[in-house]
Formats: sequence, C-alpha cells, structure tokens
Amino acid sequence: MTDWKLPWSAHCICAHVQMRITAPPMIAMACHCRGCQRLTSGPYSLSLMIPADGFAVEGETEIGGLHRPDQRHHFCAHCKNWLYTDGFAGPFVNVRATMLEDASWVRPYIESCIEQKLPGVVSGAKVSFENFPPPDQYAPLMEAYAREGARPA
Ligand SMILES: [Zn+2]
Ligand SMILES: [Zn+2]
Repeated sequence: MTDWKLPWSAHCICAHVQMRITAPPMIAMACHCRGCQRLTSGPYSLSLMIPADGFAVEGETEIGGLHRPDQRHHFCAHCKNWLYTDGFAGPFVNVRATMLEDASWVRPYIESCIEQKLPGVVSGAKVSFENFPPPDQYAPLMEAYAREGARPA
C-alpha cells in the first residue's frame, strides 16, 4: 500500500514536540470510554495505531494520565497536550490523530465503548463495539483497514 502519502508530521499546539510517522497506520479508532473523555476533554479519543518503528519524537514529553507502565500517556512538557500512548505489550504506539499536520482525512474505522458514548455523538466509524473489540478480531479488522481505510486525499 503506497497511497498513505507518508511521511506525516504532527505536533502539539505549542509545537515544542514534533512527531514523524513513516509507517502506515494499523487501524484508526475512536474510543468513547469515560477515561478517553476525561483525557481528551472531548467526547471521544481519535487514535492512529502506528508501528513503533515508524514513529519518532523530538522534544520533551512527560508522562501523565493513568501513569501506568503498560499504558504510558505522553504529554507535551510545555503545553500539556496529550500526544501519544506507548508501553503496550505489542510494538505499536497510539498517536492522537488530531495532532497531525493534516488531519482532514482521518476517519475512525472502529469505535469502542459505545455503551459510554455521549448522546448525539457520531464518530463516522464503520464498525462499533459495545466495549473493546475481542482480541481475536483485531487481525481481520486490520486487514480490512489496510484495504479500505480512509487515506490522505
Ligand atoms: Zn478509551
Ligand atoms: Zn506543546
């Protein structure tokens, strides 16, 4: 797949932290859980799952959010934007899609925790889950996303 128009650059609102993405996203997701509502200060989080070796950061971040070793929420040390999450068991990073230089094309493929979705909120995701997708569904979801996920225009 060569139509992702990589690399992408991304940054926080003060631009102190610069991020570069050089690998296609594995999936785009919206999470409506109460934790994501609080972390984003918005109705849901919008993430791109990026292979860890396709993600680079310049500038100082600090850990915030849940302070869990297996789910490290990185924030800009200056403007305090939530930028990405790492520390997961697998080799990937969840990057906040809204930090991209051009986020105009980003559409979630899956949405999770719709049980906790705020009234009137529509994410545009193709596949919805009451909670989180069962682990055995990630592989087929990622295959489908690689084929038909929304791309940069
Ligand atoms: Zn969530
Ligand atoms: Zn910043």
